[in-house]
Amino acid sequence: MITKVRQHPTQNESLLFETSSPGKIGYQLPALDVPPVDPSEVLGAEYVREEIPDFPEVSEVDVIRHFTRLSTWNYAIDLGLYPLGSCTMKYNPRVNEAVARTEGLMWIHPYQPDALSQGAFAILAELERVLAEITGMDAVTLQPAAGAHGELTGILLVRALLEAQGNPRKRVIVPDSAHGTNPASVRMAGYEVVNVASNDRGMLDTEALARMVDDDVAAIMITNPNTLGVFEEHIIEVARILHSKGALVYMDGANLNALAGISRPGDYGVDLMHLNLHKTFSTPHGGGGPGSGPVAVKKPLEPFLPLPRLQHASSGWSWNYDRPHSIGRVRAFYGNFGVLVRALAYIMAHGGNGLRRATLDALLNANYLRKLLETDYEIAYSAPSMHECVFRHAATGAIAKRLIDYGFHPYTVSFPLIVHGAMMIEPTETESKQELDLFVDALISIAQEVKENPELVQTAPHSTRTNKVDEVAAARKPILKWTR
Ligand SMILES: *Cc1c(COP(=O)(O)O)cnc(C)c1O
Repeated sequence: MITKVRQHPTQNESLLFETSSPGKIGYQLPALDVPPVDPSEVLGAEYVREEIPDFPEVSEVDVIRHFTRLSTWNYAIDLGLYPLGSCTMKYNPRVNEAVARTEGLMWIHPYQPDALSQGAFAILAELERVLAEITGMDAVTLQPAAGAHGELTGILLVRALLEAQGNPRKRVIVPDSAHGTNPASVRMAGYEVVNVASNDRGMLDTEALARMVDDDVAAIMITNPNTLGVFEEHIIEVARILHSKGALVYMDGANLNALAGISRPGDYGVDLMHLNLHKTFSTPHGGGGPGSGPVAVKKPLEPFLPLPRLQHASSGWSWNYDRPHSIGRVRAFYGNFGVLVRALAYIMAHGGNGLRRATLDALLNANYLRKLLETDYEIAYSAPSMHECVFRHAATGAIAKRLIDYGFHPYTVSFPLIVHGAMMIEPTETESKQELDLFVDALISIAQEVKENPELVQTAPHSTRTNKVDEVAAARKPILKWTR
């Protein structure tokens, strides 16, 4: 009798712990050809363990098949549209992967002597230069490892500058439409968060703002275009209000893919900003990294940038640690090098005109979707959309799940928080008209289903390994399957 049948590989998969079988190993090393040492003598007995408890014993092919099967459960940008608003899930040209895997770059080590790292230094310096040019800023640090890390670095820079002027101040203004990382970064840097409301056009209310800015305000943290996909039309006035009270303008530049090649934050009063290279400049992301969140600043903030800084002399590139005003290190070494290489490769392949073209295509795609969906879905704000558009629908969560049955990744659900029932859609520039049309057809068909067969939508998805999960129970009473 057959007792164990593996279900179709796309339907079920045991944990590696459960497939463990004593004695199996994943690799074989050649016989030792040097005298053995006793690790407890070298490391100290307390640092040596005899075994790793419950470490799964599996063969190489077990491991490969396990993870390959798991990978087939994933939806990926290589399978189709991934319209997750605010996240900029776009196709990343494979050529940039090839560049990052160039032998001399792939095997480089941060402890390598400077003399052997001159090429890497030149790459970093060139990337800093082009990012400064794209943003209209004066200096860039590549150190922060992600967008949120860039935000924290940026607010620490604000604090350092104001402290040097004699008063670090107390508050940072954050619009109510901001990404959740913004208030978190402000708090981590030791400031209080003050919210400013958006007006009925989805923009910052400059009159409300003017009333809030006093000598205790250190900065505003503004996203532009904001998370509604709307360009802050009054950004110059916003900067004027802040600057008139000696406060700074920090821009969350995660949405730079709506601006690159068209408008430069440094030209409209922004004092410092971060960029998300893993969103705008071609690094596959999601699943936790690696990322890169460079911070670009205007001249007055340059002395405070994290240590070390690149410097160039007749002997070549080296690190400069002699910077008494620096906020210090924010990360080991100098950023996620592979991500930085991909970004520079992407920027150089596009050139200025290419980046501008990509931006215009991103705007065109978002507005194409907006136009075609406007009849069946209510647009949240009438102001023109940039690279993403936000609709509202009471059934946003169910519609998102139903999209999975139509072969698409859901859009961003219920964010930004100020739009009740938000459906936030960002197609990016890499989608074709055909793919966008399929997506539109799917959403229009679902809008019809909501009216004619709401049960079908409410219980979606129907085509996946697991169907609708109880998200509340999953969060409150997680069942962690593997128990000892
Ligand atoms: C993604 C995003 C962030 C955070 O970036 P991470 O790299 O995920 O830390 C911040 N602000 C906005 C507007 C974003 O879209």
